[in-house]
Amino acid sequence: MNYRHAYHAGNFADVLKHAVLVLCLEHLKKKPASFRVIDTHAGVGTYRLDTRETASTGEWQDGIARLWQATQGGTKLNTPFAAFAPYLSEIARANGATQQLTQYPGSPSLIAGLLRAGDLLVANELHPDDNARLATAFAKDRHVKVMAMDGYTAVKSLLPPAEKRGLVLIDPPFEQPGEFQRMTDALRNGLARFKGGTYVLWYPIKDVKPVQRFQRAIAEVAGDAGVETVLALDLFVRAPRHPDFLNGCGLLVINPPHTLQTDLARAGPALATLLEQGPGATFDMRALERPRGAG
Ligand code: SAM
Repeated sequence: MNYRHAYHAGNFADVLKHAVLVLCLEHLKKKPASFRVIDTHAGVGTYRLDTRETASTGEWQDGIARLWQATQGGTKLNTPFAAFAPYLSEIARANGATQQLTQYPGSPSLIAGLLRAGDLLVANELHPDDNARLATAFAKDRHVKVMAMDGYTAVKSLLPPAEKRGLVLIDPPFEQPGEFQRMTDALRNGLARFKGGTYVLWYPIKDVKPVQRFQRAIAEVAGDAGVETVLALDLFVRAPRHPDFLNGCGLLVINPPHTLQTDLARAGPALATLLEQGPGATFDMRALERPRGAG
């Protein structure tokens, strides 16, 4: 386990993932019934943006820093990014009164900040150092339970949630081969236990072919389970000409909020333009169809 998210916190991939995650949570909050969120690969919580790790990559400068500047620190929201207001509010909260961007809230911090009295977050992180930091960060928060399982085991053992409502975020590091297959198996296991849950699966896009195969496999698993909608959200920061580069990233949202496509119709393409790193930056949003011949 060499991957440390501290090097990447606040990069373009985090911006897409976290903006969409917050939209999904806001939708869950529209009903009064409590819900549970399971974050299978949680990281440490909140990341400082002025450390040796973040400085060595500078990735946040091409991610959250651009969105922050475009929205003037979350205050200018009559922009195409109006739908991201709840996400930007959480970024503002993490940075306090000065509104200087020095902290970036990762998924457990964003989720914890949005929970209501009866809601719960299970934040799971396997790396011992990162798990210790996560446990310390949330030691006094009775809405957050920190665990140290393998993330895919967590999908099996923590579902279904007692509340029967909720979201599962699967955000692995992609440092070992076979991650697409493990995610596909995890979704199959998850849907067998909790069919109505919203699942958010993150993936990197280098070469597009394995991504297309993964999307087909997920569409088939979801179709087999009787799920109606799987939304694919692919953000390319440049055209994927070189499969050695991180050319983009995507999210598959299984059982998405019915408002998500409308929320992203303007913000998604604007995000691609804002975060571009080379020619051919685009945002592609589509509902996945079950592959022909499957089932
Ligand atoms: N979800 C976090 C966020 O959005 O702020 C970032 C997570 S980062 C991409 C992936 C995390 O998974 C790393 O912190 C890594 O230590 C952890 N990890 C690696 N292998 C794992 C496993 N088998 N089970 C659970 N966590 C794992």
